[in-house]
Amino acid sequence: MPISSPPLQDGAVLVREGRIVAVGDLADVGRENPDTEVRFFPNNTIIPGAVNAHAHLGFRRKDAPEGATFSEWLGTLIERLPEKEAWTAQAASDCARDAIEAGTTYMAESSPYGECLPQLAESGMAGTVYAEFFPHEIGTPEEAVDSIVAKVRELREGLPERVGAQISVHSPYTVDPESSRLAARRTREMGWKLAIHLSESPEEVEFLKSGTGGLADIFGANEWGGVGVSPVRYAQSVELLAPETIAAHLATGVSEEDIEVLAQTGVAVAHCPRSNAYLRCGFSPVPAMIASGIRVGMGTDGLWSSPSMNLFEETLFAVQLHGMSGAAGLELATLGGARALGIEAETGTLEVGKWADLVVVETSQENGDTERAVLEAAAGGGVAATIVGGDMIYNRLGT
Ligand SMILES: [Zn+2]
Repeated sequence: MPISSPPLQDGAVLVREGRIVAVGDLADVGRENPDTEVRFFPNNTIIPGAVNAHAHLGFRRKDAPEGATFSEWLGTLIERLPEKEAWTAQAASDCARDAIEAGTTYMAESSPYGECLPQLAESGMAGTVYAEFFPHEIGTPEEAVDSIVAKVRELREGLPERVGAQISVHSPYTVDPESSRLAARRTREMGWKLAIHLSESPEEVEFLKSGTGGLADIFGANEWGGVGVSPVRYAQSVELLAPETIAAHLATGVSEEDIEVLAQTGVAVAHCPRSNAYLRCGFSPVPAMIASGIRVGMGTDGLWSSPSMNLFEETLFAVQLHGMSGAAGLELATLGGARALGIEAETGTLEVGKWADLVVVETSQENGDTERAVLEAAAGGGVAATIVGGDMIYNRLGT
């Protein structure tokens, strides 16, 4: 299933030096390349790897804070940061492994000051770590932005070819307007990318509109909350919305006018519906955003707000939530994420010239909606092998 073209029966993908050099019928590809080593996956479907457009690696299963309200959850998370230090690296390795075994080939990861970059870089996945910075821990907005720019330059040294580092302006309630604006301008000047969390919770909407509520209680607000506009309008006013930016969530309080702003500015969106459900943050208007031409990808978020790092499982949830077809879901999980991150020339479909980022999914049964069957299989533990840039980094079939 190349995604960019109709499914093929008895198809083949020819890989050379990490790139796809042919996609077609096995018989034709085999005849034209007689000396090539062939690996057969009978009763399996080859699809592009999952592109996770918003994830956090540094959380572990089982002991997530309660999702009662977003601010209670976040308050507990902040309280437990000192305890978390002891196990963040192990959690990041485990989460990366889980993601790979669920067919992820590219991950956009966000972590404080890029702390999970080593685990992403070692995992074998391609991806980008977006380093979150918290200006109140650093100094003036100028000092804070200088410091995170220097940090990201340092993170970029010695990385594998397909692993990168960028900046995340964490959220409207943790980063002040001036630091946000400066980070947006500096990154744009340098041709860097940006990740943000935006319009995630009812409390974020309240924080920005009136400067009150659970988030204002935690972050001492009123300093810059209470500006009387929606999170989307606020983010636009501090210049965060641009084609280079990926905004996660857009779950609560996204009006039709906000959707127009998102579409006009060209910002991309990462949809994390299971995290939104766990934290009672509402339902992102994804079909309306897609209809407005907004680039949407899928994100698992992290294990403290989401049950797994399986992006296909996340996507199946979205398909059920929004009444989408299996084909639309598979596209969201692969090409959609690649477009949202601006890497669609490199990955996201099975097309000649792109990296060979492939997933082999066990799909012996047939049903009416073939794409839906493949998505369900991949969501339900059916990923048999994961290949990144031609390297088989996971293969439970042994073939
Ligand atoms: Zn997040």
